[in-house]
Amino acid sequence: MTSLRAGSGELAGKVALVTGAGSGIGYAIAQRFAAEDAAVAIDYLGHGADAKTLARDLNDNGAKTAAFEADVTDAAAVEALVAQVVERFGRLDVLVNNAGIEKLQPLLEIDEASWDSTLAVDLKAPFLCMQAAARRMKESGGGSIVNISSIHEDFPFPSFTPYAAAKGGLRMLMRNAALELAPLKIRVNNVAPGAIATPINAATLADPVKVQRLQEIVPLQRMGTPEEVAEVVLFLASDRSSYVTGSTYFVDGGMVRYAEAL
Ligand code: NAP
Repeated sequence: MTSLRAGSGELAGKVALVTGAGSGIGYAIAQRFAAEDAAVAIDYLGHGADAKTLARDLNDNGAKTAAFEADVTDAAAVEALVAQVVERFGRLDVLVNNAGIEKLQPLLEIDEASWDSTLAVDLKAPFLCMQAAARRMKESGGGSIVNISSIHEDFPFPSFTPYAAAKGGLRMLMRNAALELAPLKIRVNNVAPGAIATPINAATLADPVKVQRLQEIVPLQRMGTPEEVAEVVLFLASDRSSYVTGSTYFVDGGMVRYAEAL
């Protein structure tokens, strides 16, 4: 049972859409936003039961949320999703592009289908959602868009080339969008997690040697939690970050500084 932690109403009156929020980081963001009194649209694809349970539990605790099934790589589905959110909650103030996939594949073994699917979820979908959301935000006078990228928007990730290429692209998508959308009072920023304990890292989490290795290269000596990422996303979604746009915030326990020091 998901309980609603006490917040301070930081997102009261705002409507937020979080993509891929049936698990992991997106799930924690939806919970955190609801605790701050946002109306939250929980997008999901495969985790339908988890997303619906999350929405029900949050609503039972006084929140205003709803779960929507949409494949964010599909332009028509994204249009319909944003339209449904606006119809349900009246407006759209915050978009979190969180949905993401990755696949371990050495460069010489990458097939066209996995290149296309990774680029579709990790780069094309944030563009589609951003464009559809920004059109609504323009009408209502502004908003905040937060993309969950990765430390690999900057740092290479051998054997995950499509993922790193997509996240690197997401960095430039964010920077371009920040400039073009600033006159519309729409802010655009990235949050770049390091190693966070979520289902995407199931193979690592199941292997004590890999976990130990991570602890050695993360200066804070542990993996992060989805809730720790959600705190930074909340800051960027809220008016507390009203003068922040075009930036990437790393949430990585210092991992990129470790890499630079090598
Ligand atoms: P996760 O639990 O696997 O979450 C990813 C979510 O994206 C899943 O709920 C998944 O839904 C959804 N998704 C995938 N394709 C989708 C699509 N076409 N349409 C809608 N939703 C879709 O892993 P996570 O760690 O929380 O990942 C969230 C974001 O953080 C990703 O962008 C990831 O790249 C980024 N990130 C994570 C880490 C980390 O260490 N965990 C580090 C850096 C960046 P279904 O599974 O239900 O299909």
